[in-house]
Amino acid sequence: MLNIFIEANCNRYVRDECQFCHVYEPLSKFDRSDWHLLPEQAQVMADKIRQIDLFRELAQNEINFTGGEPSQNPHLVEIFNIFRKISPHVRLHTNLDIQSNTHSRWLRLVEIMKLNGRVDFTLYPTVWESRQKPLLEEIIGLQNELIVNMIFEKVPDLVSQLETMKQFFGEREEKFQPVIKLLERFRERIETLLKEKPNCSEAEFTDCLADLDRFTTVGSFTFGMNMILGFFVDEHGRRAMVSQPFPKDVNVLECTIPRGTIEIMTVQQTGEMTPCCDVGNLKCQPKFGNLLVDSADEIMRQIEISRQKMISGAAKNRYNIDHGRAGELLEEGIPPYCV
Ligand code: SF4
Repeated sequence: MLNIFIEANCNRYVRDECQFCHVYEPLSKFDRSDWHLLPEQAQVMADKIRQIDLFRELAQNEINFTGGEPSQNPHLVEIFNIFRKISPHVRLHTNLDIQSNTHSRWLRLVEIMKLNGRVDFTLYPTVWESRQKPLLEEIIGLQNELIVNMIFEKVPDLVSQLETMKQFFGEREEKFQPVIKLLERFRERIETLLKEKPNCSEAEFTDCLADLDRFTTVGSFTFGMNMILGFFVDEHGRRAMVSQPFPKDVNVLECTIPRGTIEIMTVQQTGEMTPCCDVGNLKCQPKFGNLLVDSADEIMRQIEISRQKMISGAAKNRYNIDHGRAGELLEEGIPPYCV
C-alpha cells in the first residue's frame, strides 16, 4: 500500500479535538498550514511510481490518501483521477467530522465514491450522533466496502465503540446481520476478558482476539475494522514507548524492512518517504528518497543504504528491550520501539 499525504490541515486538530494526534506535530512545522497537494505534484508522483517496480506493486495493491484531513483538499477529485490511472484501488480515510451533506468536503467524498474510490472513516464518539452517523448512513448506500477505525485509549472505550457500530447496523437492513455478529463477537470477547482480567496486558488482549476475523462480506458489501491503540505524544511529537490502554507493556513496532519486505510506503507532504505508517512523528532517520524530486535510481540507492541501518538498529532495539534498556536511542536513527 502507498500512503500519500494530500492535505496538511485538519478541522479536528485545528479545533484541538484530538489531543494526542500523531500527525499534528510533523504537520505543524510545515510552513504552509493550509497546504494541499496540487494536481501537478500528484502527476509527478504518479509518473515516478510508474518507473519503480516496487512502488508500482504497492500502488496496485492500494493507494491511500491521508493527511491531515484529505477531504479538505479542494483538488481532491482531480488528484484521485490522476492516481486512479495507476491503481484500481484508491481510497481515502476521513474523520467524517463534517457539518452536513451540503458541505463541500462531503460533496468531494460523494464524487470519489461515485468514481469507485473507497471512503473509510475513524469513529469519533464526540461527533458520532451529530455529524458522523447521518453521513455514514449515506456512505453505506454509495459504496460496497467500508473500513472503520476505532482508536481507543482504554479497553472499555473500545467496547463502547463496538456497541455504537453494532447499534448503527442493527437499525439498518436485515442484510447487515453478519456485520452485527462480527461486532458482537468482538464485544463479547473483550467484555469477558475485562471481567476476568480488568487490567489485562496487551498480549492477553491480543491473544483473546487472535482467532477472530476483522472482515466480513454481506452479499456484495464488505465490512472491516481496525482497532488502534492510543499513544501519548510528547512535545517533540514522539510517541510513548507504551500505549495508553496498556501502559505497563512496551509496545513494539514490527518493522518489515529487516525482514526483507516493504508492505507500506508513506509519502509525506514534502515528498519524503518512510516504509511504514510513520507520518513524521516517529522520527525515523534513515531516508528512502523523495518522490517529488529524486530520480528513480536515487530512490532505490537510498532504500538500500537505509535497509542496512534498519537491520542493524532493529537487532539492537530488540536486545535493549529484552535487557531492560527500552527507549535508548541508537546511532542508526530508528525509533527505540522498532524491532
Ligand atoms: S524503523 Fe520503525 S519508523 Fe522506521 S521504517 Fe521501520 S517501522 Fe517505520
